[in-house]
Amino acid sequence: MALKQILNDLSAHLESLREDGVTAVEVSGEVLRAMAPPAGESSGTPQKAVSRPGAARGAGRAEAGQPAPSIGQTTPELDAIAKRVAGCTRCVLHKGRTRTVPGQGNPHPEILFVGEGPGADEDIQGLAFVGRAGQLLTKMIEAMGYRRDEVFIANIVKCRPPENRKPLPDEMESCLPYLKEQIGLLKPRVIIALGATAVTGLLGSMTTGISRLRGNWQSFEGIDLMPTFHPSYLLRTPSAKRDAWADLQAVLKKLGRPVPAPEKR
Ligand code: SF4
Repeated sequence: MALKQILNDLSAHLESLREDGVTAVEVSGEVLRAMAPPAGESSGTPQKAVSRPGAARGAGRAEAGQPAPSIGQTTPELDAIAKRVAGCTRCVLHKGRTRTVPGQGNPHPEILFVGEGPGADEDIQGLAFVGRAGQLLTKMIEAMGYRRDEVFIANIVKCRPPENRKPLPDEMESCLPYLKEQIGLLKPRVIIALGATAVTGLLGSMTTGISRLRGNWQSFEGIDLMPTFHPSYLLRTPSAKRDAWADLQAVLKKLGRPVPAPEKR
């Protein structure tokens, strides 16, 4: 089997472990030596690459504190926010990040998707929703009839929480001003909040669970907000995809967009 294929399979396996909540994997020294880059390439710390599943994805080794990479479409105002985020130390999450993840996409989108926070892949690449959950989010966006670069995708916190834990209330509170600034520039017609943490981060405390709240229109500073399930939850609970699709259909109707036929989902 070609090395590239082996690494791809390994990456997929580690990613699936991460989705199941596994944050560390024991690996023998023999395997680590086999995974080391050939002489002449920059050397990293193998243990770190293995304990952070996204590192095997070929994204390159990012140094801690690096800003997010170029995100395609942007504006000077959004860039300025990303630069401030890159140097931010407002909350404790800055200590463990590799890259900040300010969010990326169309600077003038109809829809803004907001998730919880960066995971391992996002932390390495500096881009929001690039792991398995991100792949599913891409499918959801395309099922709605958009391309991924036609929407904007961001998170409640812009640095990765350790061990993939949920961001704490004070961390969300510290980071929310950046998202608010972005929203003021993006001016989306609809915000889709992905999961309970995103809803809580935007709206404050929730009086009911995401299962009851989803599908019910809310408002964030005058912008229509649709709560729905997080793609990570949908990966673990495929039966919930039907409800999530109903929520996305409601968004399309709100925007006056055609609802694609079921076979396109
Ligand atoms: Fe700053 Fe947000 Fe990162 Fe906390 S999570 S350090 S508030 S950018």
